[in-house]
Amino acid sequence: MEASQPTLSVVVPMYDEEEVLPIFFERMRPLLDGLRISYEVLVVDDGSRDNTAALLAVATKDWPQLRLVRLLRNSGHQAALSAGFRRARGEYLVSIDADLQDPPELIADLLATARDEDVDVVYGVRSDRSSDTWAKRTTARLYYRLMCRLVGKEIPFDAGDFRLVSRRVVDAVNALPEDGRVFRLVIPWLGFPSAEVTYVRAERAAGTTKYNLSKMMRLAFDSVTAFSAAPLRLATWLGLLGGLLSVAVVIAALIIKLSGNSIPGWTSTVLAVGVIGAIQLLCLGLLGEYVARLFQSSQKRPQFLVGYDSLEDHGHHTFAE
Ligand code: UDP
Ligand code: MG
Repeated sequence: MEASQPTLSVVVPMYDEEEVLPIFFERMRPLLDGLRISYEVLVVDDGSRDNTAALLAVATKDWPQLRLVRLLRNSGHQAALSAGFRRARGEYLVSIDADLQDPPELIADLLATARDEDVDVVYGVRSDRSSDTWAKRTTARLYYRLMCRLVGKEIPFDAGDFRLVSRRVVDAVNALPEDGRVFRLVIPWLGFPSAEVTYVRAERAAGTTKYNLSKMMRLAFDSVTAFSAAPLRLATWLGLLGGLLSVAVVIAALIIKLSGNSIPGWTSTVLAVGVIGAIQLLCLGLLGEYVARLFQSSQKRPQFLVGYDSLEDHGHHTFAE
């Protein structure tokens, strides 16, 4: 294994990928060896339950640059990526899926673009999604639209987790104390200079998708809640609306009572329900506001990142509060 810092770390999260593993090695190794740079392939085994772990253990024996990190339990694609970001030592980091949907041949282009254009992030962007189902394309479009609004930055549409980032980005991501980070949102949010490389996404080389519905929902919820307290704020508005409605109902009940044609007991019941309902909803809304505030400060994100300071060397990104 390379003793010092390799030029490139290729981070590959894997969950039950025994079917694709042989093809993965066959295609990845000659390609990376051909780049003529020092590299490491950091496979994060996300608690696989099939033969993945055993196959990987064998493979490390005759591929010195192959490095293995095994998570104790299945923690999800993004968590596996987090582990990869923490452990990678490369000057550049490329994250890529195990299933060869993102062509590994493009790694050379990602590297070249980063160097030629002197950027810290190079996104792999799908030029067309015709291989996806209509439902997947529609939900994906909705997702990226919404996320652009929430993050308040340009999020490259149709950019998944196939991208290259520089060491500066890796360090900045690792310095974020928050859990449950969604890389495709957090990286554009950091705001490092970036470029794009477009490609056509292939079919899975072998095996089936490891992203079931509940994992997809998890990603969607993490995406929204990481960047917005809007759902929580909704409670305030519902509380306010409910409160106003209750006041109206109470007034109506009193008018009916005074006009003398109410059923005995009805007014007091409506009054009790209305007043208590209004108080409860308003308090809940208020609580929502405080929780939203707590949530925001508990993320402990840096207020800003400094890209350049004339006192320091050009290009040294440092954190500041
Ligand atoms: N993956 C993972 N943990 C999971 C689910 C998926 O590490 O819980 C990995 C998987 O092995 C693959 C990548 O994440 O390398 C993307 O998953 P997949 O190809 O199944 O997703 P899809 O392309 O179908 O959206
Ligand atoms: Mg895939």
